[in-house]
Amino acid sequence: MGTKPQPAMAQPAASPQPPAAKKTHFLQRIQLFSLLSSAECDAIVRRLKRRDFPPQFYVVRENQPGDSMYFITAGKCEVRKKDPNTGIEFLLTELGPGACFGEMAMLTGKPRTASVVSTEPTTVGVLDRNNFQALVVQHPKIGVSLMRILAERLERASENVGIEFVSLQKLQFDARVLGLLPEQTILQHKVLPIAFANNRLTLAMVNPNNILGLDDVRRVVKGVMIEPMACTEEEFQRFLSGPYKDLMKKEGAQVGKEVGRPATAGATGAGVAATTEAMLESFHSDALKEIDMEEVTDDMLMATATELRHSAEDAPVVRLANAILALAVKRGASDIHVEPQEKELVVRFRIDGLLQVIQQLPKKAQMGLISRLKILSRLDIAEKRLPQDGRISVRMENKSIDFRVSTIPSKWGEKVCLRILDKSNTQLGLDKLITDPSTLQAVREMVSQPYGIMYVTGPTGSGKTTTLYSALAELNDPDINISTAEDPIEYDLAGINQVQVKKEIGLDFARVLRAFLRQDPDVILVGETRDLETAKIAVEAALTGHMVFTTLHTNDAAGTFIRLDEMGVEPFLVANSTIGIIAQRLARRLCSRCKEPYPVEAETLKYLGAPPTEEKLTFYKPKGCDACSGSGYKGRVGIYEVLRMNQSLRPLVIRRAPSDEIRDAARQQGMLSLKDYGLMLLREGLTSVDEVVQCVVMEE
Ligand SMILES: [Zn+2]
Repeated sequence: MGTKPQPAMAQPAASPQPPAAKKTHFLQRIQLFSLLSSAECDAIVRRLKRRDFPPQFYVVRENQPGDSMYFITAGKCEVRKKDPNTGIEFLLTELGPGACFGEMAMLTGKPRTASVVSTEPTTVGVLDRNNFQALVVQHPKIGVSLMRILAERLERASENVGIEFVSLQKLQFDARVLGLLPEQTILQHKVLPIAFANNRLTLAMVNPNNILGLDDVRRVVKGVMIEPMACTEEEFQRFLSGPYKDLMKKEGAQVGKEVGRPATAGATGAGVAATTEAMLESFHSDALKEIDMEEVTDDMLMATATELRHSAEDAPVVRLANAILALAVKRGASDIHVEPQEKELVVRFRIDGLLQVIQQLPKKAQMGLISRLKILSRLDIAEKRLPQDGRISVRMENKSIDFRVSTIPSKWGEKVCLRILDKSNTQLGLDKLITDPSTLQAVREMVSQPYGIMYVTGPTGSGKTTTLYSALAELNDPDINISTAEDPIEYDLAGINQVQVKKEIGLDFARVLRAFLRQDPDVILVGETRDLETAKIAVEAALTGHMVFTTLHTNDAAGTFIRLDEMGVEPFLVANSTIGIIAQRLARRLCSRCKEPYPVEAETLKYLGAPPTEEKLTFYKPKGCDACSGSGYKGRVGIYEVLRMNQSLRPLVIRRAPSDEIRDAARQQGMLSLKDYGLMLLREGLTSVDEVVQCVVMEE
């Protein structure tokens, strides 16, 4: 962030137009062309090259060179700028038809200062530098406008000339004044609020020409005069690494007490080495401070879409929504719940399978935040009485992340649930899931069979889908036709035909499966086998030369045979079509930074059903540190039981032997049970006794 002028597209080039002004040409609304006649504007339009963009497409990219300017004729774009500290792209503003952008980079030849991304199907007119120069020659009025724009920018810049120097060493700092700006802003722009009186805020700046910085400060501290002063970089750094921390620590403790929550936010002096997370949190609480909306009243339930839109586009609300999404991704959450309560708005994240309260927001944040989330998901913001479903796609740290959004009316307002589908970061790959080499080997052998069925079983949330997708990813090859029937489609895999099951229109698993069989598939994935018809077609497909992957709800591998028998599939067909069964659970993985070893007592082993041993065993327990947000766990680890069909098990299945008998026979041939696998993870220090007990032992 230097002294570069504000990105051109952030300029209010196209203010919304009152309907009365319909006769003006859309180009006349752009300052650069405001002096031209409609006919002249038409001539310019003819020089524009039309380009169409699908949603979520980069029209221009930050830091890339650019020699064209753009006019939006239809659609909508977002201007995003990357925060150099977190790598997250934050929304600066939205542009609609009539707006222009990109003229600064075209004029200066410098790289773009922000990215512009289409959020709807968008059409733009593109004017390249040569055409622009030809236009300036042809229409001198453009030159006049241009001079004026530049003169205004120059004037603004020179207002900052002749600024006095201030020495920070001799100043008496007031923590309350310093606290006017969040630490993130202070660090980012190297500015310090040093005095506040008569509605004038005196700001020490390492670079007083930092217009971006001044704009940010104005956004945070609204409605005050800002008097910039210059300070040296050296003094700024010295102050920040010493006195600032001490001052803010005291102040932070007080602030925390006042509002009854821990003083995690901007106030605590993480200093120059502030972590990404601390900055996000500071950002978050800072955005909250600014939300200045009415308490929710009954009237608000009647608020019009325009009013809702207005409150949702308030900068603090936009930043709060962004901060929540960013924080959830950063913490590795799988779901975000935004839940209106009687007196507050509770934000909870599901992290490693557990729901935790992240923030209790004031009720006044409710209307704006929920409307903002609905706008991002392209839902009808005026509709609050019916459930709605939508999707948000964002890019963070160069990853594409989707949020599947659903709203539901609840007693105290609409509850919003966002499921995070981090497509790029999914732990796809069998070797990433299965830590035990021999189990991995067994699964890989099953997956590479030419035909048959592989079942994955376990309760909801045990990672069955991830396992299936990882298996598919190993097979995905242009020579193979892979088709999937899913409900819902959780990941996008290139090169695979994915079909969403829609029960309400009669498109159920069985019907999709039958259609697949007419399409010459090699591999078929059926999201779930819930009924006899699906189960039967899957078995038939397997017996006629197809590879089928599917999931079932059973507790362990051997239980699959009983379940299929109960459904009504002939044991003879099951025995001959099944390649194998993976039963699985997900346990929380101990944080490798802070886990603590301890000697295992004989009692524990007995409770876990482990064979007695002379060996002195060491297990690990959770402790909690910064890396794991204090929980002692980070991520998850799978527990697997892999049963492979073979000559000796087949007769047992055909004569409907009890599960125990089949399991014992399989274990004699070397199958690790879920419990065996859990014990192995404990010995390796990957998870805790509590987790294994919860996942495996308690079920028995
Ligand atoms: Zn830890």
